[in-house]
Amino acid sequence: MLKLENVSKYYYSSSSVTCALRKINLDLKIGEFVAITGESGSGKTTLLNILSGLDSYEDGEMYYYNKKTSFFDNEDWENYRRDEIAFIFQNYNLIDSFTVLENVMIAYIIDGYTYSEAKSKSKQILKLVGLEKDINKRATKLSGGQKQRLSIARALAKETNIIVADEPTGNLDIENGKAILELLKKVSKDKLVIVVTHNFGQVEPFITRKIRLHDGEIVLDEKVNDFQLSNGIVNRKENNNILKSVLNFSFLNIKSQPKKSILLMMLIIVLCFSSFVFYANFKSNIDDNKTKELVDDFFLNYDDTRLIVRNSESLDITDEMLQKAMVENVISIEKYDAITDMNYYRINRDYKYFLGGGWDDSGNNFIDSSSIQILNSDHFMRSGSSLNDNDIKEGRLPTGKYEMVVFSNDSSILGTTELVLFKNSRKWGVDAYYKYNITIVGLLKEPTHQAYFSNDICDIMELNSYNLNLKYSYKYSGSLRKNLNYSKVLIDPTIGSYDISFPQRILNNLNYPDEYINYTNNFLYTVNGDSYRKTYKVNRSNPQLICDDAIGLSEEVFYEIYNQYVDNKQFAIFINDYSKTDDVIEALSKEGFVSLSCFRASTAGYDYNKVVIRYVNLIISIVAMFILNCVTILLGYSILKFKRNDYIIFKMIGLSNSLIKKINVIELMIYGLLS
Ligand code: ADP
Ligand code: MG
Repeated sequence: MLKLENVSKYYYSSSSVTCALRKINLDLKIGEFVAITGESGSGKTTLLNILSGLDSYEDGEMYYYNKKTSFFDNEDWENYRRDEIAFIFQNYNLIDSFTVLENVMIAYIIDGYTYSEAKSKSKQILKLVGLEKDINKRATKLSGGQKQRLSIARALAKETNIIVADEPTGNLDIENGKAILELLKKVSKDKLVIVVTHNFGQVEPFITRKIRLHDGEIVLDEKVNDFQLSNGIVNRKENNNILKSVLNFSFLNIKSQPKKSILLMMLIIVLCFSSFVFYANFKSNIDDNKTKELVDDFFLNYDDTRLIVRNSESLDITDEMLQKAMVENVISIEKYDAITDMNYYRINRDYKYFLGGGWDDSGNNFIDSSSIQILNSDHFMRSGSSLNDNDIKEGRLPTGKYEMVVFSNDSSILGTTELVLFKNSRKWGVDAYYKYNITIVGLLKEPTHQAYFSNDICDIMELNSYNLNLKYSYKYSGSLRKNLNYSKVLIDPTIGSYDISFPQRILNNLNYPDEYINYTNNFLYTVNGDSYRKTYKVNRSNPQLICDDAIGLSEEVFYEIYNQYVDNKQFAIFINDYSKTDDVIEALSKEGFVSLSCFRASTAGYDYNKVVIRYVNLIISIVAMFILNCVTILLGYSILKFKRNDYIIFKMIGLSNSLIKKINVIELMIYGLLS
């Protein structure tokens, strides 16, 4: 099976060359029980290591079933060790954290047996070596003789043709040593057993052949007893499911060290948690705009992802321009910039509405009054113009008069009408709201609290954000004149072209309502200080327009005013992250736009307390991240170092380096996932 031809082995050091083996010729067959003897330093271990593929040789040739092994690569040697060689050591090389049973099971698991197969086979083998009573003991709890029995059991479990043993009885007393050799002889009938020993007398009754080394040379090679030639194991079991073996192995590893596993997992948790904390702290302090004082003089909505964009020549915005503004990092474009400063609240969801009532000053009329409790703060309007059909999972985009799309899992709300409040505390005062019935015509795909409104609503809110001043002046009782002032308008879809409508509340408040209904009167309005006079007829009240000081205009009249005053020169874009602000501003300027970050425009000078805190935070996070990295690396190293002994043993049992790496990774992944 194994044949050595003129094999030599040298050890090189900086100052000298040692010849450990000199032109060794040897022929070994399955069935032999060979003892290698010789004084210390004569090359016994070196020869054993070469035969078992643990060490390389420089000169000559070793044949394995007549194949030259000088052409073997790493993988060939790994396969050779895995398939042919089982080791028994003087110092046992057991895995201390494993139980007796587990120390044997790993050999079967590496060969591809299932967990339960490995268990029952291991039990059989342990019975054979006389350890059946101790299977659940830790390996460390065994006596020396028992430990060597266990390592013989593990060697047998490998089901190889060759067993090599380097001074197997070196640590045992005479009686125990003899028992071990007896056992070895008994269990290795069909194997090639090579035992290294300097105590030849002890092994002589058991061996079939004796080889003596002196100074790296064979000085004696003689037959001691007869032996039965054997073919050994010819058809080897193939391991087809490496991954399963690796998983079983990792599982065994983790299970055998519960305390260490829990400690490690706790460390991982602490490391991850603190890394996240300090990284987040670092990220959030990197931007110096956060150390400035925020003022809401310019924008109500100073969302740090909102930019306001104008054409650099102040041209009216066209659809073509909007498409050009869709540069990198832009998430959505909002054609109506003004409305992104306006709040909206949906009834039941964002506000509660309390109805009360009382008599007016004259004591003749009962007036409904209401109070509102806002449940969710700042919701800013968006228009459907920033959506497309892909954003809708059911229904359609808001195209009609008073429509919106929202997100909901409940598709029964599709087609229902909700009361929505609109508010711009800067323009209309803190307590002033618009209330309007709006129909839900579509459901958004992505979960969001944002509602998107139809263009008409946006137009109404946009016009109202201008300094509108509407004065209705009418005559009653012949020549008496009365003026009513308004600063808000709505589109009333139910009235005729040149009609206007008043809310019920105003009608209730007038002494002579009949006097002006159906009269044609002068209607004077001022926008941004310019006054215009037009003649309209008051049509009737529209109780649907529940807004104490807004009047309803027909669509024609509304857009007459709208087109005259509302300029269409700026729009809003929303970007994916504040940190991309400068990139986006630059990209937009290449497309012919000037843009402004609402967040930055809303910051005034530095708040020096915040500046100091920011730098302190940055330094703390950088130092902490550095320390955490070092700790992680050190932890990794110490785990590896801690396990180094185990790895050497795993390798001798027949695990390849790549499998050990896989086991490591899987183990760490399991720890990470559990953590
Ligand atoms: P034995 O097992 O018979 O005591 P070894 O095979 O361990 O002997 O050693 C044979 C010779 O090779 C000795 O002279 C030893 O000093 C030398 N040797 C063994 N291993 C090494 C090594 N790794 N580096 C250098 N010299 C070594
Ligand atoms: Mg030795």
